[in-house]
Amino acid sequence: MSPLSQPLITLLSSLTARSETAPCLRAAGVVITDGAWGTQLQARGLPPGTCPDTWNLSHPDLVEQVPRAYVEAGSRIVLTNTFRANRLALADHGVTDSVEAINRAGVEISRRATGGRALVVETMADLDEARIAVVAAKATGLPVVACMVFDSGADQDRTMMGTTPEDAARALEAAGADVIGANCGQGIEGYVGICRRLVNATDRPVWIKANAGVPTLVDGEAVYATSPAQFASASRAVVDAGARFIGGCCGTTPEFIRALAREIGS
Ligand SMILES: [Zn+2]
Repeated sequence: MSPLSQPLITLLSSLTARSETAPCLRAAGVVITDGAWGTQLQARGLPPGTCPDTWNLSHPDLVEQVPRAYVEAGSRIVLTNTFRANRLALADHGVTDSVEAINRAGVEISRRATGGRALVVETMADLDEARIAVVAAKATGLPVVACMVFDSGADQDRTMMGTTPEDAARALEAAGADVIGANCGQGIEGYVGICRRLVNATDRPVWIKANAGVPTLVDGEAVYATSPAQFASASRAVVDAGARFIGGCCGTTPEFIRALAREIGS
């Protein structure tokens, strides 16, 4: 489902926005976000099995290349390399005493490439967990984006726990999310209908970050079938369905963002 770049449940990944576009959470038009991170770090030498978040302390220069590559490609919002930077996930790697340092470094790295700040709660399967995270994130006073993974059910329009887009949108809006969305789990074509349903269920702007299709395992490696050009051309239907923020999740790269920026502008 999310084999390489992100864990199934990401608790609080911060996102940063370029300072001159920090009000972009309210801006008119479509805003392009970033693509996958884990694969980008692996391409820069992150060894398999190493916790990517620890690289914020050990290899900050290499980590910083990722948001810079996305900004260069046209991203106006980039995440931080803090996908696993919570006490539970870091315990598996024996680095729980560095939770705060890893998060602080991750935010500083992405802010050097960009500017302003907001928080994103993404790749969530459980609505209760998402609501708890949104309430905690709102307490910071920063804008909050909340995204669920819709990849289950006969029509792939429910979360793993069975939540529909309508139920998710209403609950996340009630919890205080400023932007509501969906990420990961399936390719971009599957997110057209989900986007439309989210848009119809909430007044909040909608955020969509699909995978580059569904991966197949080739020699133990996840290979994604969708090309940057296919992803960009399919993104038009998601924008027409009302998405205000669009980017990529697993399997996407700066090439995907460049193609997206050419297709829909930013
Ligand atoms: Zn993903």
